[in-house]
Amino acid sequence: MAIRPLVILPDAQLRLVSKPVEVVTPEIKALVEDMFETMYDAPGIGLAAIQIGEPVRVVTIDLAKRDVKEGEEPEPRRPQVFINPEVTWTSEEHSVYEEGCLSIPEYYEEVERPAQVKVRYMDLDGKTQEIEADGLLATCLQHEIDHLNGVLFIDYLSRLKRERVTKKFAKAAKRERAA
Ligand SMILES: [Zn+2]
Repeated sequence: MAIRPLVILPDAQLRLVSKPVEVVTPEIKALVEDMFETMYDAPGIGLAAIQIGEPVRVVTIDLAKRDVKEGEEPEPRRPQVFINPEVTWTSEEHSVYEEGCLSIPEYYEEVERPAQVKVRYMDLDGKTQEIEADGLLATCLQHEIDHLNGVLFIDYLSRLKRERVTKKFAKAAKRERAA
């Protein structure tokens, strides 16, 4: 297990279409462990494998509330793994959430998406499962599945906003290379 470096905007890897997982091998299980470790360390609530540079269709999510006020107990961890996840149904109803992304650190904007989705996926035992999700899980699943297709949440913003944030991160990457 290891905390892996995150792939940050404007890295071109974020635009790759990830490949389906054929079989859940020990390598995939090890990747899932690294993803959780990296996600918890960040901390974040969702991660797609490409965000640590692995172009395979694997998503980890944990929506347990850990960041609580003094005197409150953090919720126990609720790790969820989705392999080859696919949206099979979306509701007519939409909802708006302020989204962020570990690959676009400290940038948050409201995004409108279907409020409920059905997602079919493979679990760690290689079994096909389907869940119906709403609320934060529905948004998070759609955000992470987008990553598998090279889509980022900033793609839903106005062109002006998207160009502004992309430029900002391109400049920061240039500064880092120069340092
Ligand atoms: Zn993201």
